[in-house]
Amino acid sequence: MNHVVGGMANLNRSALQLRNIKKTYREQPAVRNLNLDIKEGELFTLLGPSGCGKSTILRMIAGLVEPTSGEIWINGTRVDTLKTNMRNVAMLFQSIALFPHMSVSENVAYGLKVRGVNKSEIAMRVKEMLSLVSLLEYQDRYPIELSGGQQQRVALARALITRPQVLLLDEPFSALDRQLRDSLRIAFRKIQLELKVTTIFVTHDQDEALLLSDRLLVMSEGEVEDLGEPTRVYDRPRTVFTANFLGNCNILKGRVIGIGPNDIQVSLGRDWKVSIFCANGHTLSAVGEVALGIRQELIEVMNDEYEGEYAFSGKIVMTGNSGSRLYYEIDVPNVGILYTNTPRNGEPHNINSLVKLRIDPANIMLLQE
Ligand code: ADP
Repeated sequence: MNHVVGGMANLNRSALQLRNIKKTYREQPAVRNLNLDIKEGELFTLLGPSGCGKSTILRMIAGLVEPTSGEIWINGTRVDTLKTNMRNVAMLFQSIALFPHMSVSENVAYGLKVRGVNKSEIAMRVKEMLSLVSLLEYQDRYPIELSGGQQQRVALARALITRPQVLLLDEPFSALDRQLRDSLRIAFRKIQLELKVTTIFVTHDQDEALLLSDRLLVMSEGEVEDLGEPTRVYDRPRTVFTANFLGNCNILKGRVIGIGPNDIQVSLGRDWKVSIFCANGHTLSAVGEVALGIRQELIEVMNDEYEGEYAFSGKIVMTGNSGSRLYYEIDVPNVGILYTNTPRNGEPHNINSLVKLRIDPANIMLLQE
């Protein structure tokens, strides 16, 4: 079937495309060779440590930084040759730059005013936007009379009122304290879903990326480490970097003792043999060592008296209790220190006690180094 007519063709069309995008600053590559297809209405996150190139990508889309090579397309129009104000994108930064001498409604109205939209339409759309960000009753206040979270919501309303084709957000919540950040994140996602605005979101915060995104790109040093839906990237990361960066992970060495088309058999520690399923096959052709990841929350810590099957035994060398969770460091002979972090239930284990560790082989991740 060939869906080329009417709405069918638009169902999954790309709102934003990056083609072979590279950016080099003084011969130092910041973005190496990026190809991306962002879908209409999608919230797509660029995640990675400081300096990996996230803001550079966002700025190239916005037109604030010129790519060294490559093309950027928005809804079928090539935009990397256009000035910022011709691109129909809106950008929101961590530091909120509201106009201090303008009221909330004047700030929000600004983008429409400079576009020459008539007064009655401006009034209507400002009201609509302020109600969307729950700030209608603050419309006559000045920025200085608002909290940080309220200011950020005004900034969001101001960015969205021009109905940009792409919304670009650079760490918009990272300057706020935790409770406010948590509530504002969810409020923002609801608005984004309601308006179905295509959004590129930059953050170095793993939780935020997992919580909000339709898809996310994990980057390191200007290169793609992983790209996919949050659950897949968390549960089945491709690389050691991604496994470590998203959540708390133990990385172990395993000795390969057998290779099948969709699984490998490995031996770990003293003599724990497991078969690891690899959904999309693997590229291993010879036995040797492989990197394996085991999430801290997926290791069960049992008393030494436990008589069922277990993966390792060891001694607790460090404990921590955060109220809802227990944290252990366990010294396992022939393996090293394993870290666990699990919901607290039952009596905690004491430091220096011997324990057995249960690990479901299905939770072991085969990783590329
Ligand atoms: P991130 O947003 O992930 O923290 P950036 O995109 O800001 O990363 O930076 C990527 C790399 O490019 C870093 O090494 C940074 O030092 C460098 N860089 C960013 N902007 C400039 C610039 N204007 N001039 C020179 N180097 C820059």
